[in-house]
Amino acid sequence: MDFSNDYLSTKAKALVPYVAGLQPQEPGWIKLNTNENPYPPSPKVYEALQNADISRLRLYSDGDSYALKEAIAKDVGLAPENIFCGNGSDEVLALAFQAFFSGKSNVLTPDVSYGFYPVWGNMYDVGLVKKPLRDDFSLDPADYKNGNGVIIANPNAPSSLALGLSDVEQILHQNPKGVVLVDEAYIDFARVESTVTLLGGPCNGVPDGQCLSDNHVGYENLLVVRTFSKSHSLAGMRVGYAIGPPKLIAALGLVRDAFNSYPLDMLAQTAAIAAIKDRPYLAQTLSQVIITRDTTAARLREMGYYVLPSHTNFILIQTPEAQGLYNYLLKNKILARYWATPRLKDYLRVSIGTNKEMEAFLQCVQEFASERPTKQI
Ligand code: PMP
Repeated sequence: MDFSNDYLSTKAKALVPYVAGLQPQEPGWIKLNTNENPYPPSPKVYEALQNADISRLRLYSDGDSYALKEAIAKDVGLAPENIFCGNGSDEVLALAFQAFFSGKSNVLTPDVSYGFYPVWGNMYDVGLVKKPLRDDFSLDPADYKNGNGVIIANPNAPSSLALGLSDVEQILHQNPKGVVLVDEAYIDFARVESTVTLLGGPCNGVPDGQCLSDNHVGYENLLVVRTFSKSHSLAGMRVGYAIGPPKLIAALGLVRDAFNSYPLDMLAQTAAIAAIKDRPYLAQTLSQVIITRDTTAARLREMGYYVLPSHTNFILIQTPEAQGLYNYLLKNKILARYWATPRLKDYLRVSIGTNKEMEAFLQCVQEFASERPTKQI
C-alpha cells in the first residue's frame, strides 16, 4: 500500500509498519498463521463476562488494572507492584521500548525474531544491533555482551526454539547496564523454565549491584513480558503484561500515563482475571496443543521434512519449496505464514490447530508432495 501523503509528519513518513498475518473475516478458512489457540477461552471467562455489570461501562476502567495485577501476581508468586498490564503484549512491549531503549545505542536483539522489534526500534529511535542466530537458529548467549539493553523472545519466534534458564542468566550477567527484556509470549508451551524464576526467591549468584536492594530478590534490570493471547485463548481481548522489579514497572506506568491512561477495558480485565484463575483448564488445553504439535511434527518428519524442535504453539518447517507449499495451502483455504527473507525463505511457520485442522493440513502437504514427485522436499 502507498502511504505517501503530503500531510504526514516527518515521523510518520519514516515508519515501516509491522505486517501482521492475514485475518480473513469470512468463514471457511483453517487459520494456522497467527499462533492463536484453537480452543475457546475457559468456561469461567464466559461466566465472568455474562455476570459482568454492564452498567459500569459508563465509567472509565481501572487504568492500572489492579485486580488483574493481583491475580497475575498470585499466579507467578510475586506482588502486584511487580506487574504491569497493557492492551496486548504488543502495547506492553512498545511501552517498554519507549521507557528503556528509546534514544539508546547498542541495544542487542537476534537477527531472526519477532518482526515487531525492529518496527518499534525504528519508531522509537533505538540503535538496535542485530546479533545473527546460528545457522540452526539457536542463540549463542556469548554474543550478548555490554549492551545498553537486550530484547529476546524466549521461546523465540518464528524459530520455536527456547533458551534454558542458565543461558538467559548468562545474558543477564553480561548486560548489567541496560534492561534485559525477555518476551515470553509462548513460555507456557515450552519445556524450559520461565525467566520469572530469576525475579523471585533468594538472589544466589546475582552479582552485586544488579540485585534488587530493597527486598534483595532477583535482577533489577530484568523485565519479562507475557500475553493472554496464546495459552489463555484471549487474543481478541488484547491483554498482555510485564513482570519485573517495582522500579521498571513504575517506569512503564509513567510512559503509559503519557500516552493512554486506560489501556485495558473493563471486560478485558474481567475476562483475564477469570482465565488466569482457571489453572486446570489451562493445563488441559496446553497439553492438547502440545500433543497435537508433537504428533504433527512427527508426521512431517516421517514425510521427510525437517521440523525444528518446537517449544511453542507453532512449528517451523524447513523446505526449499516453502513458498510453493504456502501457496498450495492458501489455494486450499489453509493459512500458514511465510517470509521471503534471506534467512526464512526456505521455512514455513504453521500454528497448531485442532487435531482435525492439522489432519487437513497434513493431507494437503501430502498432496503437494505427491504432485511434485521429482522435487526434493
Ligand atoms: N511477542 C511475540 C513473540 C509474538 O509472537 C506475539 C504475537 N504476534 C506478541 C508478542 C504479541 O502478542 P499480543 O499483542 O497478542 O499479546
